[in-house]
Amino acid sequence: MQKTKFHLLLALPAFLVSSVWANDLPIADVHVHYSHDSVELTPPARVIELMRQAKLKFALVSSSDDKGTQLLLQQAPDLIIPGLRPYRRRGETGSWTTDAAALKYVEGLLQQGPYATIGEFHLYGKDAQLEIPQRIVQLADEHNLILHAHSDAEAVEGLLASSDTVRVIWAHAGFDDPAEIAVMLRKHDRLWADLAFRSEVGSGGSLSAEWLTLFEEFPTRLMLGTDSYTPERIFYIPEHAQGAREWLKSLPAELAEQIAWKNAYDLIKPVWEKNRQSASTGTDATCVVRSPDNELELGGSTVRAIVRTDRAISVGEAFAVDIEFCGDEQVVLLDLDATMPTHGHGMNYKPELGNRVSTADGSRYRAEGVLFHMPGEWQWSVKIQLAEQQQTLTALTNVQ
Ligand SMILES: [Zn+2]
Repeated sequence: MQKTKFHLLLALPAFLVSSVWANDLPIADVHVHYSHDSVELTPPARVIELMRQAKLKFALVSSSDDKGTQLLLQQAPDLIIPGLRPYRRRGETGSWTTDAAALKYVEGLLQQGPYATIGEFHLYGKDAQLEIPQRIVQLADEHNLILHAHSDAEAVEGLLASSDTVRVIWAHAGFDDPAEIAVMLRKHDRLWADLAFRSEVGSGGSLSAEWLTLFEEFPTRLMLGTDSYTPERIFYIPEHAQGAREWLKSLPAELAEQIAWKNAYDLIKPVWEKNRQSASTGTDATCVVRSPDNELELGGSTVRAIVRTDRAISVGEAFAVDIEFCGDEQVVLLDLDATMPTHGHGMNYKPELGNRVSTADGSRYRAEGVLFHMPGEWQWSVKIQLAEQQQTLTALTNVQ
């Protein structure tokens, strides 16, 4: 079936292929920093807005002093996957490998909450053998974390050789040439690479033969990133995503999707879900997305909601939805609605809301008779009452 579809796409004129999917192609951005100086200049809600505008599938965020990462995670748990940087302030990229306080800081944060990665950190040459980087590899193994290393080939090999299981995302693909990246990926099956800050990839909207060869040889190992290492680069996230969509058009559809988001998703998402789940065991085990295909997380400032459909959504077929609230026992559901933002209309029928059911750390409601009568992008909207305040939590879902 897949093959038939693929050939059908190839048979269409190129402009038609691109207009069909490329402009809406989701992008996973695995190289976002929202460090202390950036937090001071740009509020978290604005950052999330930029990410939604960029149509990100998710963003892997790591920030010096970590607060920025946590602020974004609170605002949009469906969109943010946290990484742990060993830096408390800007300017520690060269000193952390011999700074016992940096290690202590990492160990402290690991006790506080779950992450998917340790990094992005800077590490070169033989420094991978130093005591602190070696301990970081150990922590990655103990806590099921992927390393995100801004490194040369020697340090990457040093990290990989320090453990039989540790996996590494090679930040910026080491700023190496495609041929050198290929050598490393061929040699190490626990190595992936991000293309952050590699504007020469696809510059002018198309790919050079060298990059094309690399993507074709390693369709599952490369991913995208912006690298917002300075505060103003946060605003570049939508432009970066759009630029990537342009050059991804020169790849076969399936390969384009892999690089755009699937490789990152397949590597990072299961790690994050597992770590999040084990961190919440006992306290709010009910509040975890277990099957991303029919569960969607909506985030507010103090409460999260999971919208869980009882089957895959099909156009024109009514389905039931469970809305599970986590993080506050007092939350009351006022309304569940869905609209098509680009069409300016909602559903033709109003779903029927059931009664509130208490759970371990929140509540759950069931809505029957939800029906999306058109394919396209729908926005869930969950209106709640919390203490004296009303809020609306939203999230987008694509209906085929
Ligand atoms: Zn970076």
